[in-house]
Amino acid sequence: MQQVSATSNEENISQIRKAGGAYTRRKGAEMKQVTAGCRFCGQFLTFEAPDSFNTEDCSLLSDEAVKHCNCKESANFRAIESARNSTEKYIDECFEGSPVARVAKEAIMPVINGDIESITIDAGLGVKLNLKTSSKKYIKAKYTVTKQTELES
Ligand SMILES: [Zn+2]
Repeated sequence: MQQVSATSNEENISQIRKAGGAYTRRKGAEMKQVTAGCRFCGQFLTFEAPDSFNTEDCSLLSDEAVKHCNCKESANFRAIESARNSTEKYIDECFEGSPVARVAKEAIMPVINGDIESITIDAGLGVKLNLKTSSKKYIKAKYTVTKQTELES
């Protein structure tokens, strides 16, 4: 008799692997083959998923297909996602948990899409963050601290 697993698709997704790829089958884990279409080109890719994976909710599989598809559109999507992630990380390193980080993250995609050419957030005390479009890549983030000292005697 097959055991009904309570694991959710979100937990399962970490175990999903592209079929034919190098992966180690976990001892005792039942895997099944599932297919998912790339949402950009429609090409179907085959994956190995845990038996408890609910294939009726295929949005996660569609995400996986986009991660692995070899079409130009999915490659472009992955490059933009990577730029967004690394910019978010950079912002967190500079302003973690602050309202500046929240506002700056909201501006990432408009800058990447070219809807905003450049945006500078003045955080006060000489600290500024600039996000701008990049001609070579997708986005350029620059954190600057201006320190001024003056003495009159
Ligand atoms: Zn594709």
